Amino acid sequence: ARRPDCPLDKNELGHSTWGLLHTMAATYPDKPTPEQKCDMTQFITLLSKFYPCHICAEDLRAELKVDPPKTDSQEVLSQWLCRLHNKVNIKLGKEVFDCSKVNERWRDGWSDGSCD
Ligand code: FAD
Repeated sequence: ARRPDCPLDKNELGHSTWGLLHTMAATYPDKPTPEQKCDMTQFITLLSKFYPCHICAEDLRAELKVDPPKTDSQEVLSQWLCRLHNKVNIKLGKEVFDCSKVNERWRDGWSDGSCD
């Protein structure tokens, strides 16, 4: 078996990064200040410059040009990020995630209590 302390491969890096991004969106303010909005856009833009998977970063930069980060509120940012992730899912032939469930998945936990 692969040791648990090896450098991240593309999938591990992606899985961890989506976890960070969706959780950041889940805890983003409902009413962000202009500075918070600007900072979040910067964070995502800078991620697209330094993301350590070259092809992923290139695609992300292209995608951000077409559909720049929407940072007006927790709901708006989470939905924007869900759509972004779904574009990658489609590209990779993965299942599309139902974005109406994004706060259950990343903020509140499932309504059946299975995350409590
Ligand atoms: P992941 O796609 O990592 O998803 C993790 C979890 O998020 C899922 O288990 C699910 O519960 C939840 N989820 C799934 N979709 C959504 C959604 N739309 N909204 C909210 N939650 C969701 N890999 C490549 O091979 N080529 C690429 O070009 C590429 N580009 C990437 C670009 C970015 C910005 C990132 C962060 C990753 C990229 N990846 C790319 C990695 C790829 O997206 C996956 O992370 C990787 O294939 C591992 O997939 P996974 O099955 O663990 O699930």
